[in-house]
Amino acid sequence: MAETKTKTDPKIVDQIRRTRNIGIAAHVDAGKTTMTERILYYTGITHRIGETHDGASQMDWMDQEKERGITITSAATHCIWKNHRINIIDTPGHVDFTVEVERSLRVLDGVIGVFDSVGAVQPQSETVWRQANKYEVPRMAFVNKMDRVGADFFNVVEEMKEKLNANAIPIQIPIGAEENFRGVVDLITMTGIIWDDESLGMEYDEVEIPEDLKEKAEEYRKIMIESIADHDDALMEKYLMDEEISQEEIENALRDATLNRDITTVMCGSALKNKGVQTVLDKVIKYMPSPYDIPPIEGKDPQNDGEPIQRKPSVQEPFSALAFKIMTDPYVGKLTFFRVYSGELEKGSYIYNATTGKKERIGRILEMHANEKKDLDIVRAGDIAAAVGVKEVRTGDSFCSMEEPIILEEITFPEPVIKLA
Ligand code: GDP
Repeated sequence: MAETKTKTDPKIVDQIRRTRNIGIAAHVDAGKTTMTERILYYTGITHRIGETHDGASQMDWMDQEKERGITITSAATHCIWKNHRINIIDTPGHVDFTVEVERSLRVLDGVIGVFDSVGAVQPQSETVWRQANKYEVPRMAFVNKMDRVGADFFNVVEEMKEKLNANAIPIQIPIGAEENFRGVVDLITMTGIIWDDESLGMEYDEVEIPEDLKEKAEEYRKIMIESIADHDDALMEKYLMDEEISQEEIENALRDATLNRDITTVMCGSALKNKGVQTVLDKVIKYMPSPYDIPPIEGKDPQNDGEPIQRKPSVQEPFSALAFKIMTDPYVGKLTFFRVYSGELEKGSYIYNATTGKKERIGRILEMHANEKKDLDIVRAGDIAAAVGVKEVRTGDSFCSMEEPIILEEITFPEPVIKLA
């Protein structure tokens, strides 16, 4: 693989640091589709307007998108939010697709668990949660459908603790309930966030905490700080000494605790009414790891009797990637979705499929953005993209450099039960 000077370019490193690879996991009907659509729809608008600077009206773009319909059936898509790139990897919600869920959990760095504020924790959520435990994936939770009759945010938090054994810590509490659900109190900044019912955009108003919620907000802020201080000695000392703790200190501790899977932060909103989706994206940027924050990927060295080896998440390392989904696209044919763990890959170059032992040329590399595909010249550690024209490949195959191959940890699935007549 060609050496390029990009490997030491600080801009590239910064770009990777501003990437998040996340999945949205939920039991059927909790609102995963609605939430993903809202994210793509509204960040799409922000992205476009930011790109063109021509003041094109939001409605024009929305109408166009509506006509085409937003496809979220792709294995991976991405959005741009506040100068960060958020790759969203599809995690199938149906319990029968356990194998697919495992495969998708393997390639992402964080999961947003979506729960129904009325139905709370359903058996399927438990299955996905256990799988996420297995792959040690950091998690955040979004209690959706706060506008529904019977919505109970705190009940979901309790059920997460009881049924999922999660250290669920609210970082927001709801303002209003059911049809009067209006917004949230952010327990970190101690401000109220209100979404206007008429608002179609991603903006929100910051207001004072409503009088009747002040005491409750103080109480839950205390719980939040105590919980993160449990995992942060310096913070605990300050807390015990009753010293002031800055917003930055809270945020750093929340990020570390999320990354170490000590806590699961809990937020709430209504995806249908586009309330709360914005703050989820804000918190994804703040608390979910970038591809550079995750531990090195473990694998086996096929040239050395399968001895264990590692690849650090860095462009300086030899190229390694995992094929996690193969789909057929009506226009370009077979698409192989892959996650790059280390190194970089230029289009038109050759990779070694360490699983099949075959060399393959990667003619085109595509990135998916809602309905569009964009050709890429190069992909790097942390990227998720689709390769066109890989001849012989199955999901779970390892792509790597010819000279320094690696077989990334194989996923072992239970043998199918064959019933004899
Ligand atoms: P998925 O199966 O998890 O992808 O769930 P969907 O996004 O398809 O949502 C299931 C149903 O719940 C649909 O009828 C949605 O319109 C509805 N829904 C989603 N989010 C909300 C919400 O915030 N409030 C209410 N009341 N309904 C919602």
